[in-house]
Amino acid sequence: MKKVEPLPKGMGKVSQVFNDERTRGVYQQYGLDGHNGEDVSGWHLPVRSPIDGRVHYAGEGAGNGVLGASAGRAILIESHDGTVMIELAHLDVIYVEAGQYVSAGSYVALSGNTGASSGPHLHWGALPLTGGDIDRENGFMGRVDPREWLAGGYE
Ligand SMILES: [Zn+2]
Repeated sequence: MKKVEPLPKGMGKVSQVFNDERTRGVYQQYGLDGHNGEDVSGWHLPVRSPIDGRVHYAGEGAGNGVLGASAGRAILIESHDGTVMIELAHLDVIYVEAGQYVSAGSYVALSGNTGASSGPHLHWGALPLTGGDIDRENGFMGRVDPREWLAGGYE
């Protein structure tokens, strides 16, 4: 599968890694083992789809069973091969709609500060799918380290 970073090179700064040891306590209060994605700080960063896929959901996270209100305005993109769902959260502007097909590298949103966010940033995550299902019991609500996923650690 073709995979690209959600942000062009040099855009934004990683402010919190997956399972960041500095913030584990905060997430453990919410029943997670730790931070369940990667944060890149910056306002109106141009956010790209990391994969070829179909927009599964685009809009307010509240009311969506995978995202939740804390995600703010967010997008879920499912890969064409059905092996992963990508989460892009705390967005300000969304350019795509559910059902739309997107290519890896195509621009889908601008980063923002919506939902449970303490400053403008993109939060992005990778949710491996097994037979279409998310492993919600993995300690991170089905998310894995998106860096490892990018590097091919999860297929
Ligand atoms: Zn985050």
